[in-house]
Amino acid sequence: MADPASMDWPQLEATVSSCQACRLCESRRQTVFGVGHRQAHWMVVGEAPGEQEDLAGEPFVGKSGRLLDNMLRALGLTREPAPAAQQVYIANTVKCRPPGNRNPQPDELARCEPFLIRQVALVQPKIILAMGRFAVQSLLRSDEPIGRLRGRVHDYQGVPLIVTYHPAYLLRNLPEKARAWDDLCLAVETVKACTAG
Ligand code: SF4
Repeated sequence: MADPASMDWPQLEATVSSCQACRLCESRRQTVFGVGHRQAHWMVVGEAPGEQEDLAGEPFVGKSGRLLDNMLRALGLTREPAPAAQQVYIANTVKCRPPGNRNPQPDELARCEPFLIRQVALVQPKIILAMGRFAVQSLLRSDEPIGRLRGRVHDYQGVPLIVTYHPAYLLRNLPEKARAWDDLCLAVETVKACTAG
């Protein structure tokens, strides 16, 4: 396989769709590459495709996807067609559904991460919103809980990264929505500060 670091969008998408670099290719219906504006200012990174994402070929669908869309809408952002400043790009840390929705294994993540790194390099977002314990911990190479990683600006591939809860977790823990809103506000402030600078 050619090095993803030198691929353009069509090459990257084609490589992912036929990828057999880890065992997750055996149980997927289809790969879940990403969705949104390819020069978006905001990038959302989630964990791994679940059953509905595997069926739809799109990240963050179903109830948690609708909650994410509502959260984004409150910030004037959307995954639907819109100018780059208003549309997000959404991807996952791995592109194939782990069987039974188990967490991806470290070797699976290591095989898949070059695709995400290339997506980040191509999009060149102003901010990354990392959603959910698993995505956060794998992107930041940390085993700290989200509660300890929230509230400050991290870095992923040279892009400011804000940590927040996964919408599926928020659906089960409604009081945490206020904290998630604080995280989104921090992301907005970070984008403003970067733009002003
Ligand atoms: Fe390839 Fe990533 Fe799918 Fe593994 S999870 S088969 S590395 S696309």
